[in-house]
Amino acid sequence: MFNKILIANRGEIALRIIRTCKEMGIKTVAVYSEADRDSLPVKFADEAVCIGPAASVDSYLNMKSILSAVEITNSDAIHPGYGFLSENAEFAELCRLYDVKFIGPTPEQIRSMGDKISAKVTMLKAGVPCVPGTEGLLTDVKEGMKLAKEIGYPVILKATAGGGGKGMRIVWNDDEFENQWDTARREAKAAFTNDGIYMEKYIEEPRHIEIQVAGDQFGKACHLSERDCSIQRRHQKLVEESPSPFMTPELREKMGAAAIKACQAINYEGVGTIEFLVDKYRNFYFMEMNTRIQVEHTVTEEVIDFDLIKEQIKIAAGHPISGKNYFPEMHAIECRINAEDPYNDFRPSPGHIYHFHSPKGHGVRVDTHVYAGYTIPPFYDSMIAKLICRARTRDEAIKKMERALDEFVIEGIKTTVPFHQRLMRNQDFKDGNFNTGFLNTWNYKDELPKE
Ligand code: ADP
Repeated sequence: MFNKILIANRGEIALRIIRTCKEMGIKTVAVYSEADRDSLPVKFADEAVCIGPAASVDSYLNMKSILSAVEITNSDAIHPGYGFLSENAEFAELCRLYDVKFIGPTPEQIRSMGDKISAKVTMLKAGVPCVPGTEGLLTDVKEGMKLAKEIGYPVILKATAGGGGKGMRIVWNDDEFENQWDTARREAKAAFTNDGIYMEKYIEEPRHIEIQVAGDQFGKACHLSERDCSIQRRHQKLVEESPSPFMTPELREKMGAAAIKACQAINYEGVGTIEFLVDKYRNFYFMEMNTRIQVEHTVTEEVIDFDLIKEQIKIAAGHPISGKNYFPEMHAIECRINAEDPYNDFRPSPGHIYHFHSPKGHGVRVDTHVYAGYTIPPFYDSMIAKLICRARTRDEAIKKMERALDEFVIEGIKTTVPFHQRLMRNQDFKDGNFNTGFLNTWNYKDELPKE
């Protein structure tokens, strides 16, 4: 087992990793930017090293700085968390070169799933159902329009280097095609300096259901059931839950088997997530694989009572997995609490928190790096807490979430708490009657309490 792990991340996930390391008797090193000097990971890790100024490119994305910190502290492994360098094949390669274990898949595995088109080709070969679409990049508008006719409108244009919903455009007919094509290319170029675009059938009213997987260094893989992440705003997840209210034992069996096939096709080592779109007839299609721990791993941990970070560390240290699959025994829901203003189009709201009281009680988990007196820096992601509620049934979990949200007091900044309070009282949500378009049809603004 490792002696000392350096955590190349910040915020709640850095804290989350420190917690498991402590429980495993592994020493920890926090690295931090100048803007994070007063953060909890810095306080709770055994050692802390400043790796640069506030801007991510100079600190959390600065591979040289991080590897120097590894050397100074004599760490034998790096946990990359999510975001930042967690899916960066070049960084994983450098770790290999410097003989420090990257806790995650190999650079080859990251690469094979990093580019969305090659990932789809690999999955089709492995027999995993994919969204019908083009086999490669589109060369021009004319070709695009011809293929759109073949696939059948509506179609969605997607950036091959895509992430966070950027460079994605839905096209309903020929007349719109050229306009949407130009926009998608422009967005992709700006966001990823890569304007490669491909096309898929646009699945109408789909659910986003993903399967948590784990694979070891000996070719064994298993799944840990699903998470439903259909409550999204502009393709960004706001709420996740497990099990999915749309799931049936037969569908879970099929999706689980497909996810394991996907892992085995690349000999996947580590924990990961296979994201699928599921249409109203319960047909499911591979969308992408995330080769890292995800924000919403917590709901899986709660429903199957399993520490996914511990599993990641054990796999990286060369432990074999049992190979058995895991199934939810409870219901868990996670609300992402962001420093954003739901009254103003979710505009970021960083700043000083002068009062902070987090909900407590049976079945309530709060993963956060925030405390009273903390100032949220404007440089990073706006998520400040994850509130997870667990109960025997979905109804009970929603009730628990409702009361936990009512207990949340965060003063000094705007947060998404009022949005979630309304959502938990929404009849369609309660009935499990929603898809990824939910926020386009529900006029939450009118239901928010007066400020
Ligand atoms: P990103 O990597 O940018 O997050 P994804 O490929 O994961 O992009 O897609 C994000 C979201 O976009 C999905 O959860 C879904 O809501 C929507 N989406 C993507 N592809 C399709 C499709 N073919 N049909 C319908 N919706 C889609």
